[in-house]
Amino acid sequence: MNSTSASDASLYEIALSSDQPSLVLQISPATLKSVVSSFIDLLVEQKIPAIVWAKLPRGDIWQDELERYLALPGVSRAIYQFKNYRDESGLEERGEDAGMNSTAITAASPAPSDRPGPVGQPVPDNGSGQAIASILLAPDSHLRREYCLVVWSTEFQGMVLAHRPRSAQIMKSTSGTSDSSPGQPGTGSGAEDGQEKRQNLLAMISLDPGLISRILTGLESAAAFSQARLAAETGTAQPDELPDSVRQWQALMATMPAAEANPCLLGKLLTQQIQQQEEFWQRSITYRKQAEIAEVLQVQNAELSNAIRLKDDFLNNVGQELRTPLTTIKTALTLLNSPNIKPPQRQRYMDLIAKECDRQSSLITSLLDLVQLEQVVDQSSLQPVRLAEVVPGVVSTYQPVAEEKGVMLAYTVPEDLPPVSCMSNWLKQIVINLLNNGIKYTPTGGQVWVRAKRQGDYVQLEFRDTGIGIASSEVPKIFERFYRVRQASEESASGAGLGLTIVQQLLIHCGGSISVRSKPGEGSTFNVLLPVHRSALDASSE
Ligand code: ADP
Repeated sequence: MNSTSASDASLYEIALSSDQPSLVLQISPATLKSVVSSFIDLLVEQKIPAIVWAKLPRGDIWQDELERYLALPGVSRAIYQFKNYRDESGLEERGEDAGMNSTAITAASPAPSDRPGPVGQPVPDNGSGQAIASILLAPDSHLRREYCLVVWSTEFQGMVLAHRPRSAQIMKSTSGTSDSSPGQPGTGSGAEDGQEKRQNLLAMISLDPGLISRILTGLESAAAFSQARLAAETGTAQPDELPDSVRQWQALMATMPAAEANPCLLGKLLTQQIQQQEEFWQRSITYRKQAEIAEVLQVQNAELSNAIRLKDDFLNNVGQELRTPLTTIKTALTLLNSPNIKPPQRQRYMDLIAKECDRQSSLITSLLDLVQLEQVVDQSSLQPVRLAEVVPGVVSTYQPVAEEKGVMLAYTVPEDLPPVSCMSNWLKQIVINLLNNGIKYTPTGGQVWVRAKRQGDYVQLEFRDTGIGIASSEVPKIFERFYRVRQASEESASGAGLGLTIVQQLLIHCGGSISVRSKPGEGSTFNVLLPVHRSALDASSE
């Protein structure tokens, strides 16, 4: 081996150029971690004496894997850990302890006092008398973009290799945080740290001793190359020398010739991997469920926020609507106080005040009705109610009002109509509001009819008048809260613009609907559909 070669070779390339290369898998760092854990589990559980070579991402969770094997008592083992040498300032990779002390199998030439040694890096002794030998990689080593865990023992040889593709490097140099020249492996900037955690890797797994031997030769070249590079840089060069660590592992390997693969161990490795796979699967199901719940909560949250916003709008409208009559009353009162006021004027202001008081009162009643409606009612619990028991009674109370205005009021409600699904007082309220409007918006000499008839699974209740009608542009708006069509008519001013809103809400609550046809100057027809009560539907289907 020539340790002064221009560069070492990529382990990934070595594996790819093999006669029977392993399948290249695209895996996440989490999967790499799971494979590394399986290898270490096997060594620990089966107490296998082995040599381990590792080049792992930074971080305690990776380091802990090696420590797990290191902590195994009574088993002879050697661990060689390759690490990226940080930069020209002589600092090593973040997260590593620069103050660690030398170990039994550290192979470096002694380092100058303030810089880590070129190849062997001090490592802590875990108390078992054995430790991890740390081998620093030169900044231009191919291994800087690679990870590996190679295990060599008599009864089991295995390795996992992973390569970080270049795309991340491109991202890194455009992000302006690069601390290495393009094409040169990164040296661990903040941006790279993040990428290292997320970026997918190209990986290969092999249990073939022949390929593993070739990979180990690659690791030897990497150690020798890095020693030569770093030693030249620090002026402690003895470039052609093979690193002590390499000499050590070569000697150790000579004592561990590969025996026939143990199928039992391979089976265990496979079982462990399947177990981990199952755990991942279970965890992914849990995460998916949590994500679904989060999604539902998000929708509910949006709905609630929307409901709160609508309530705010509503309160805002209510405030404005309540203020309008008060302003008029206040003005009328001021005028009434004037010393020169004549009796007819006084009467006009008194009438105005009385009308505004009525409006205020009807507004408050309607508001209370609406608030009550907010309480959700289970439709299936609605009792059957007969129109013939409600409509005639309400119409008759409006007869005097209609007569006084000179409006003809009539109704047709057949006795044999099936009962509908509604609350009796709701039905009364619907009839009152629509009848009230019909009479209110129909001039003297006009007519108002109320007619009921069956229509499939519904009973249709029609309110038809020959009144002023509604412009087609206004029709879609009349069911909105507080909406009133602007008109010169005296009567319209007395409404709160809530009557139709309440009717519509009541109908929604009992599964019905309302529609309107109208022509200005000819009149309006409000069509109410009320669902026939379930009991009547069941009886007719028997
Ligand atoms: P209001 O209390 O103002 O009558 P409603 O919600 O009952 O409030 O009605 C909203 C608007 O719809 C009214 O201001 C009126 O302009 C119009 N409207 C309702 N019913 C009729 C009708 N039968 N004929 C003409 N316009 C109507």
